Amino acid sequence: MKKESVRNRLNEILNQAPTLKQILLSADSVQSKKIKIRKFLSDMLMATFDDNPAIPPLEWVLTRDAIGVFRTILSSRSERLAGFSFLKYIDGLLNDQDFNSLPRPRAGFFAEFEHLIKGIVGKTGIYPEKIPTFTKYEGSKAAKLRSSDLSRMAATTREFIDRYPSGLDKNIIRKRSNNKARILKFFGATEFEWERWKWHTRHIIRDVQTLNALVKLTPEEYQGVQLALQHKIPFGITPYYLSLMDYSPGEGNDFAVRAQVIPSLHYVQQMNRMKNSSECSMDFMLERDTSPIEGITRRYPNIVILKPIVACPQICVYCQRNWEIEDVHSPHAAMTKDKLQKAIEWIANTPEISEVLITGGDPLLLSNSDLEHLLSRLARIKHVERIRIGTRMPVTLPQRITDSLVRAINHYHNPGRREILIVTHFEHPYEITPQAMEAVQKFRRYGIEVYNQLVYTFFNSRKFEAAALRLKLRLIGVTPYYTFNTKGKEETDDYRVPIARLLQEQKEEARLLPGSVRTDEIVFNVPGLGKNYLRANQHHDIISLLPDGRRMYEFHPWEKKLELADTYIYTDVPVYDYLKKLKAFGERRSNYKTIWYYY
Ligand code: SF4
Repeated sequence: MKKESVRNRLNEILNQAPTLKQILLSADSVQSKKIKIRKFLSDMLMATFDDNPAIPPLEWVLTRDAIGVFRTILSSRSERLAGFSFLKYIDGLLNDQDFNSLPRPRAGFFAEFEHLIKGIVGKTGIYPEKIPTFTKYEGSKAAKLRSSDLSRMAATTREFIDRYPSGLDKNIIRKRSNNKARILKFFGATEFEWERWKWHTRHIIRDVQTLNALVKLTPEEYQGVQLALQHKIPFGITPYYLSLMDYSPGEGNDFAVRAQVIPSLHYVQQMNRMKNSSECSMDFMLERDTSPIEGITRRYPNIVILKPIVACPQICVYCQRNWEIEDVHSPHAAMTKDKLQKAIEWIANTPEISEVLITGGDPLLLSNSDLEHLLSRLARIKHVERIRIGTRMPVTLPQRITDSLVRAINHYHNPGRREILIVTHFEHPYEITPQAMEAVQKFRRYGIEVYNQLVYTFFNSRKFEAAALRLKLRLIGVTPYYTFNTKGKEETDDYRVPIARLLQEQKEEARLLPGSVRTDEIVFNVPGLGKNYLRANQHHDIISLLPDGRRMYEFHPWEKKLELADTYIYTDVPVYDYLKKLKAFGERRSNYKTIWYYY
């Protein structure tokens, strides 16, 4: 973009805030502009709280938030943490002779700046001009009008939710039955074998030719898998999970299922680069720095993670443990008896630990007897009151959830003394099938609760998509537990969703569901520190806006007010780019228009 065009665009945006424009275009030094802008913002804030008639109802909330964000971005502390001065940059674009040495602002930058300014001056325009009619009445007239407003809202919600069929829908069940027949025919196997989980683990699809023979791949998908295998990047799909894919790409519903296991070219290229670079670490969560002994991770006072096996029957592309999961079958995946023994002894000798999360990989890959042995050892430790088993088997291989497995687990579930619970990982309503429901129900029949952790990726982030999942989860007996923001791992850029969208989802979609359904907490998992609860905006701040439209955040540690711990600086994906991607996916941008006002 040429200098004149950049300046024209900025001037156009600033026309909405003439005082700010005057300050920015003045011949003052940057420091003096900063002082004046701060004063301008403070005055604006006070005027807002003084019942400013120029600001329509509820706009004042957005004004207050936008002013808060701009003030934080201007502070020297934010500039130091971000390593970038937003004000100097804007000043340079508007006034500097050295314009050409500055990075060119991208469309995402202008979009962020424009919405920020609109927020500050109370002109977001997100609310209709007319106030709802029911507010003008009282009693039953008001109630009836309000009720019809609510019905309209519910109908819109239903319309969105119905866009996402689940695997419990009759026509999808029929489709899956055909898929299963095709897969069985290919392998020359029987229905009886299909019900055996070990048949599935013996027939995990691990090469692109088999995959392409069973479902049609796009050229990019074919290349992605081929390249992943060439570079020894873990890849594998269980026949059961494959039966959840529509035969042809783009049939309409299986985007999330395909994206879950078919690596994109970008992912493979990045992974390959990182694997071969001594400077990059794929251990994004810094597990190595929080592991007091092999196999154990500790980030909280009372909870530890125990990883007896680091393999899964199939590999999720964005897996946070892709730094240690070698493959679906790996001779080194299970901890040796000796190391497992030492890890258990460490827990036994650490009386503060009351909860053990057994994860991996997928611990249900262990045989029943190995799992029972592990549970019995943990059950002997008096201070362990809760054992969580993290498994994706109800989704990837529900046949694994046999009666004998559930009985073995249930043996250690001892109400009043020790609780065992299952934490699983459904990503999409399309993954919910009668088999998955039966797997969940087996646990529930024994009084074992099943929770879900959702990773919020591009592929389940459309309007009401996660809400549709939550509704179905509750119906099959799963309680929504956490929704995680996708990690800022470079290789998973295709999956990342801006934090603003997650906040918007919670406020505008999850909020419309009954409380018993929206039981999950949205979190950002801070590397090396642990969960930051995104819902409470006092736990994070936007500290800068970068020329390419990315927001920079500072996340506060969960120990805040308890202990001194470092904050964490995170650079998000641009909201603008995300919306563009959604549009290319067939979404209407207007359905997401308020996203800019979530910080
Ligand atoms: S099930 Fe969990 S551990 Fe296994 S590949 Fe998927 S995200 Fe990673």
